[in-house]
Amino acid sequence: MSDHFLLAQDVCKTYKDEGKKVKAVDGVSVGFKKARSTAILGPSGAGKSTLLHILGGLDKPTSGRIVLGGTDIYKLPDKRRAYIRNKRVGFVFQFYHLLSEFTALENVMMPALIMGQGAADKGQNVRGRAAGALKLVGLSNRMGHKPSELSGGESQRVAIARAIINEPEILLCDEPTGNLDSKTSESIYEILFDLKSRIGLSLVIVTHDEQLSGKTDDIIRLKDGKIA
Ligand code: ADP
Repeated sequence: MSDHFLLAQDVCKTYKDEGKKVKAVDGVSVGFKKARSTAILGPSGAGKSTLLHILGGLDKPTSGRIVLGGTDIYKLPDKRRAYIRNKRVGFVFQFYHLLSEFTALENVMMPALIMGQGAADKGQNVRGRAAGALKLVGLSNRMGHKPSELSGGESQRVAIARAIINEPEILLCDEPTGNLDSKTSESIYEILFDLKSRIGLSLVIVTHDEQLSGKTDDIIRLKDGKIA
């Protein structure tokens, strides 16, 4: 599986819920290749979000390994893992998580500023990259708007631009259209697949929307924490 740049190896995650153990992810091994799209499908509670968070370095598995670009990421110190996550992985969530007091452009700049990339030129370079990312998602005309002035679809496009500002290799999307009507959902998927073909981004999309299953290169079905 050497051509997989992101690998999950026998990953398990157990939560304790009111004293009871819940196996959210139960022995999952799976690999992801560059510039491919994968849907992770399954019913609610199947472990999809938990697996996605573990893949992206957000949530330590109870056992098993996540290998990103040859590095076992949970063996790294937290700070180093956070750095690698910011640089190589982009996240898109169902509820955009935009900062309400900042404009669309400033929201998109945020991950690059967190990486310390704004210092040298007072953020001018980061500002230019953020404007470029907003152009890629078709939002050049909304750069100065605050989140309260944006529609759901526009907010999600800002969130996608924010996710690609550090030029990650992979975008992990957790129910990215879960809060949107079907027409807007279609446009969000179009943007995601367009980014895959234009800049070679890998996509992993968690959803219970079976409509997506015909659109991705690969499909993983999860049930009770296991690959079905
Ligand atoms: P999905 O994304 O497929 O809906 P999740 O990964 O959110 O599934 O959840 C898988 C299982 O793990 C569910 O039974 C859920 O209740 C449980 N779970 C998820 N997160 C936690 C948590 N932080 N504490 C306890 N149980 C959790």
